[in-house]
Amino acid sequence: MSESCLFCRIIAGDVPGDMLHQDEVCVVLRDINPQAPSHVLVVPREHMESLNEASHRDEALLGHLLRVGARIANDEGYAEDGYRTIINTGAGAGQSVFHLHLHVLGGRPMSWPPG
Ligand code: AMP
Ligand code: ZN
Repeated sequence: MSESCLFCRIIAGDVPGDMLHQDEVCVVLRDINPQAPSHVLVVPREHMESLNEASHRDEALLGHLLRVGARIANDEGYAEDGYRTIINTGAGAGQSVFHLHLHVLGGRPMSWPPG
């Protein structure tokens, strides 16, 4: 837990979050500034600044985040139409909260390449 980290504070209950799912490894909350009809964040409970800090010990954790994201896409009803999972790593890629998280966006057509 990092006192200065927004997602650590949401996980600790110090800051409100619109939670959809919680388990022993991660939480899922709705993004406060959604970029699609459904935009959720899958956030590991353990503080890790970004994917750059992940080691081989975190492989199960990273796989869990993806599988939970897929389950949420299914629960939200857009698994068939398609959805996008994104991890922004570093400010140059658009990361603004430096606690690793997976974005899951769905509910609208998406173009490629992303901006
Ligand atoms: P990133 O830019 O990849 O680091 O993603 C951070 C995301 O966190 C952005 O999409 C923000 O809209 C979102 N965000 C920021 N503050 C909150 C909050 N209090 N609750 C939920 N989502 C948030
Ligand atoms: Zn954190």
